Amino acid sequence: MYNEKVTLEAINLIINISDLLKGINVDTMDISFYEDIDNITICGKNIKILEPMKVTGKITTDGKIASFSGQANLTIQTECDRCVSVFEENLTFDINEKFTNDSYSDDENEYYQMIDNKIDFTPVIMHNLHMNMPMKFLCSSDCKGIVTNCETNINECSPFAKLKETFKTQGGR
Ligand SMILES: [Zn+2]
Repeated sequence: MYNEKVTLEAINLIINISDLLKGINVDTMDISFYEDIDNITICGKNIKILEPMKVTGKITTDGKIASFSGQANLTIQTECDRCVSVFEENLTFDINEKFTNDSYSDDENEYYQMIDNKIDFTPVIMHNLHMNMPMKFLCSSDCKGIVTNCETNINECSPFAKLKETFKTQGGR
């Protein structure tokens, strides 16, 4: 079994897998690269990507269809949906995609189009990044939301209670 290790440069995430498709000297390719994305916007929310996202995995092929299976790891920074504080979170997710030179499709799979045996990883990464973002961004699973100064009774936090408090203070003089 022949195995080729390839490290892509962040500026060029296109890989030529001609040898792999033809079965010349190689039948698996280990791939690793960093995708340098500064930030993405999801539903109007800005998410910073703190370090270049790391992707590792391997490409195998049956001669016609190439399959990539791997894993992405990144650290995001964004605002908590509940308390608005800025927090960081580490995300890891799997990427499994298939590629073909033909405009080929079947009911079960979606394929990325290769051009002249070349895979462009940028659209793959962007698609998987969007698919794997959390539904909600929370600084912690038990985030209570915006913390008010009232700790004893939530009713004391109502605008009326605050108003009453103000009158009481002023009237006391
Ligand atoms: Zn929070």
